[in-house]
Amino acid sequence: MEKHIVTLPGDGIGPEIMQSAEAVLKAVGEKFSHQFTTESHAIGGNAIDQFNDPLPEQTIEACEAADAILLGAVGGPKWAGGQLRPEQGLLKIRKHFNLFANLRPVTIFNSLESSSPLKQSIVHGSDLMIVRELTSGLYFGQPSERRDGGQSVVDTLTYTRGEIERIVRKAFDTASVRRKHLTSVDKANVLESSRMWREIVNEISTEYPDVTVEHELVDAAAMKLITNPSYFDVIVTENLFGDILSDEASVITGSLGVLPSASINDKGLGLFEPIHGSAPDIANENKANPIGMILSAAMMLRYSFGMNEESAAIEKAVEEVLAAGYKTSDLNIENGTNLTTTEMTEKIISSL
Ligand code: ATP
Ligand code: MG
Repeated sequence: MEKHIVTLPGDGIGPEIMQSAEAVLKAVGEKFSHQFTTESHAIGGNAIDQFNDPLPEQTIEACEAADAILLGAVGGPKWAGGQLRPEQGLLKIRKHFNLFANLRPVTIFNSLESSSPLKQSIVHGSDLMIVRELTSGLYFGQPSERRDGGQSVVDTLTYTRGEIERIVRKAFDTASVRRKHLTSVDKANVLESSRMWREIVNEISTEYPDVTVEHELVDAAAMKLITNPSYFDVIVTENLFGDILSDEASVITGSLGVLPSASINDKGLGLFEPIHGSAPDIANENKANPIGMILSAAMMLRYSFGMNEESAAIEKAVEEVLAAGYKTSDLNIENGTNLTTTEMTEKIISSL
């Protein structure tokens, strides 16, 4: 198969970890006889520096012609407080391509269990996926403004039926290829939007008879993520709740550097990026953990190209390397061997 990928390395450690992902893709392409072509474009702080725009027109045009988009990370102290902010590039690209479904797997690798702030007995075997609505709800509703000379304020939470249906379907589809257990998270005891959300989940559930569905209030779900994370398979929720729960879930893995994410639209175009930021404190030191970026490329193969076997091969290689005690400096593996970004990438490729 031939696939064209636009890479957006971004800022900080972004370019280093993108090199790792490209090297892994090259190896997977050789192993499975696929032709992956890549084309790099600017986004974020470096795009502000070069083009005075965090998402230049030529980047959008290149992405429009791509089969998938891989993103490193954007941002850094250099651009803090400026008129143009690197993060605007990210919000703009999500909106431009209508990337409404944000998928965040939360995998607790056995070799990293001791890094979790939770007891090993609680986290053992935890492996869940959060499906977050990414382009509507409270973050986009209008009006959003100060009123009465600053004496009151309004933000608006709106969802259309269509917006809820498409994310809920995406979540059911995801659950049906996993352990077939979907938890819909809302605040239906208080919010009208949540009551409509719940109705729609129940309606769509009739199309997926083999998926078990339940509804959980967001406060209870937040507690259960800490007390019993292995209870969950797939969680689906709206934008604000999903933002908070996915950060909560990522810390229980004890390893920010190994987690990928995907943001997908209804035409199947996806943007894949690690969940961590640009880590400017360790940029250009060949120290960054490339695993979150490499697993994002694996998600791209699975969710955009339908290459399940190829994706699983990368995931297995990562697991093997971690299980053998290889780590980067951000990871806590007892008696582990510390590797640089490039060494870790090479280990994963040889394991492949
Ligand atoms: P952002 O606002 O862009 O999300 P942040 O302030 O949340 O950024 P990160 O850039 O994610 O922060 O970094 C948080 C800490 O984790 C930093 O100390 C950084 O060095 C470390 N870190 C993040 N990603 C990695 C990685 N891939 N490898 C090693 N360390 C990392
Ligand atoms: Mg952050």
